[in-house]
Amino acid sequence: MHVHMVGNGVAGSGGWLRLKGWHRALAGFMVRQLGMPASALEGDLEKIYSEHLLELVRESSLDAIVLLAHERVHDPDGTPREDLGSMFVPNDVVLDLAQRHPEFLAGVSIHPARRDALEELDRCIAHGAVLMKCLPNCQNIDPSDRRYVPFWRKMADARLPLLAHTGGEHTVPIVNKKFADPKLLGTPLECGVVVIAAHCGTRSGAFDRDYFDDWAAMLREFPNLYGDISAMVSLNRCAHLKDCRQPEIEPRILHGSDFPVPVLGHRLWLNGSVEHESFRRIRKIDNPLERDFQFKKALGFSDEVFTRAEKLLRLT
Ligand SMILES: [Zn+2]
Repeated sequence: MHVHMVGNGVAGSGGWLRLKGWHRALAGFMVRQLGMPASALEGDLEKIYSEHLLELVRESSLDAIVLLAHERVHDPDGTPREDLGSMFVPNDVVLDLAQRHPEFLAGVSIHPARRDALEELDRCIAHGAVLMKCLPNCQNIDPSDRRYVPFWRKMADARLPLLAHTGGEHTVPIVNKKFADPKLLGTPLECGVVVIAAHCGTRSGAFDRDYFDDWAAMLREFPNLYGDISAMVSLNRCAHLKDCRQPEIEPRILHGSDFPVPVLGHRLWLNGSVEHESFRRIRKIDNPLERDFQFKKALGFSDEVFTRAEKLLRLT
């Protein structure tokens, strides 16, 4: 339900990838982790990456994945900020891939301040988008800004869910730290949008604020709020993974992977969440999509966590 498309626009998609310093080193590490040559970053990355991903899905337990576009940073008045952010994956990249392969479902990404935001939303819905993804703290989106209400209402009318990043982030540069707060999602929730808070508001780095309890409190107020456990089989984000199995929380959890973010279960073994034998068996699985799924199965997540997306996504 949460897999990133990555590309560099070499073949003319209009997308771009600009990596500096730590983000460049991290991207090289991720690419090698996936079994792709580091030179893929300079080649036709969209093609190399999507073909590799298709193989991983086909050999995993998953039927399909939601593949995410990545919007550019915008000012609140709708001016695109090409000087900020590290990548742009246009919606057509994921819409086209989804049209060609049943294993891919299109998760589009639209900054609601864009001057053509409503038209782009209509266009993406007509072309088969199953959800809309944004990273408020990285793309400079305040979801509680009243100017975006018509955008949220249109999403609600079309039954298009919002997958919104919540909590800290270290893979993509931060533009406005405050927008990591899940409480800002109250506005789209009140407009009737099904909102999936990516990572359930958990922290990414040791100094980030942890919003997990704020998010969990909002579940009682908003029946249309969910959370995903993407990137939570990791060294840095796994602290609340077991809490997500609580009986009042688990019915609101969806599986997501956050691929290509690495899957590392060491801390789950060290803190006793996963038995040593399971840890040893699962860590040997090469396919990161399958490894992530198996770690979550070993933690005891119910089958519904892995199939709930089918009820929420805009599937036609
Ligand atoms: Zn993500």
